[in-house]
Amino acid sequence: MRVYVETYGCAQNQGEGAAIARALADEGHDLVAAPEGADAGVLVSCAVIGPTEARMVRRWRALGERIPRLVVTGCLVPLRTDLLTGPARERTTFVPIREQSSIPALLHRGDPAAGPGATGASASRPVVRLSARPPAIEEVVIAQGCTSACNYCFSRLARGSLQSVPLEEVARRVERAFHRGATEVRLTSLDTAAWGRDRPGGERLPDLMRTVGQVPGDGTIRIGMMSPQSLGPILPEYLEALDAPRFYRFLHLPVQSGSDRILDAMKRGYSREEFLEQVAAARRRFPDLMLSTDVIVGFPGETEEDQQETEELVERVVPEVLNVTRFSARPGTPAARLPPLPARVAKRRSRALAELRQRVGRRRLERWIGHRGPAGVVEHGPRGSAVARLPNYLPVVLPVQPELGARVPVRVEGARTTYLLGRLAEEPFKYPSRP
Ligand code: SF4
Repeated sequence: MRVYVETYGCAQNQGEGAAIARALADEGHDLVAAPEGADAGVLVSCAVIGPTEARMVRRWRALGERIPRLVVTGCLVPLRTDLLTGPARERTTFVPIREQSSIPALLHRGDPAAGPGATGASASRPVVRLSARPPAIEEVVIAQGCTSACNYCFSRLARGSLQSVPLEEVARRVERAFHRGATEVRLTSLDTAAWGRDRPGGERLPDLMRTVGQVPGDGTIRIGMMSPQSLGPILPEYLEALDAPRFYRFLHLPVQSGSDRILDAMKRGYSREEFLEQVAAARRRFPDLMLSTDVIVGFPGETEEDQQETEELVERVVPEVLNVTRFSARPGTPAARLPPLPARVAKRRSRALAELRQRVGRRRLERWIGHRGPAGVVEHGPRGSAVARLPNYLPVVLPVQPELGARVPVRVEGARTTYLLGRLAEEPFKYPSRP
């Protein structure tokens, strides 16, 4: 069967979409790069905010016009399938996230004529599309669900309580990704610092890092988003484990608000001060650490003072990456029952933070101008350019295209808000050895 896979959302969803695509290929399905001519389509959906959800509905309708059979999985499925109305509904199967491994067999069952190899050698060789990104980057999902209780979060409702992938299985997945040629593996879940907490007394994230840090291969590993609430108890061991050449010195720690009052209202489970202390400890250990954080603007009840506290926190921390999202009430969450702020207020505050992001992002990145050192090439870009990552994950755009995976010496010559501009440097550098 010719199958088209389209994935949206976070690194976790991207990883799950890629895993579905690989499983389909392993089962003998042909992956195609466009919906036209596909026998079946898989929409790996995201429902993080209202506008994303509306986009999922539009994509489902558009795919339904081109593809006879659809599977919808991802975060839309448990709670929002009522939005999918129209002629394609009868031709759509909804698959919960934790049952995604059934999708290849389900497609075979649905069309008895289309067993493995039923399409034979296609006249036009299908283009395998495992991910929207090049295969040099692979996500490895380390857990499903979450232990936190943030009262605005739809992902928690969609994905349920924490279920960690066993340590040996994560190590196997990382090894396979390197073996397939990945130069960057992203360990991902809703909260990576919570990994293992569903098995009291068992291994925790630093143990996992020590194990995957020994997996043979030449790629680098990025540890994905984690909540300050889960990081707190394991911070010293986590920083210790991160101090290995196998890992990017990168920390994605969403603060969501600089106001304790709003953090309480969100039920985030940590204070502004705790977040600041964690960032300070991480930067003390790794002065070149790349910090990425997220902020939700316009949470119900947020005052001008709360907003100012958030802006002040951003000015103080100066993260390399700041993701700003306007609060969007998600059905079924407790926060959806709170009286919303006027849209124009939320819009104004979101604009103020976006402007602040421009200022602080540039300021933080400009200090890298003049830096010389090693970087790993992870993507080829337009017009002969490439993206190489410094050991702390900062991207350097190069005007040339060294081989994907190559580690090259770079000289940083400029900074934009979210990336650096550089050239290949002449002098050789000593690269840390890998297992
Ligand atoms: S976990 Fe959140 S961001 Fe990721 S796909 Fe689900 S709704 Fe979207």
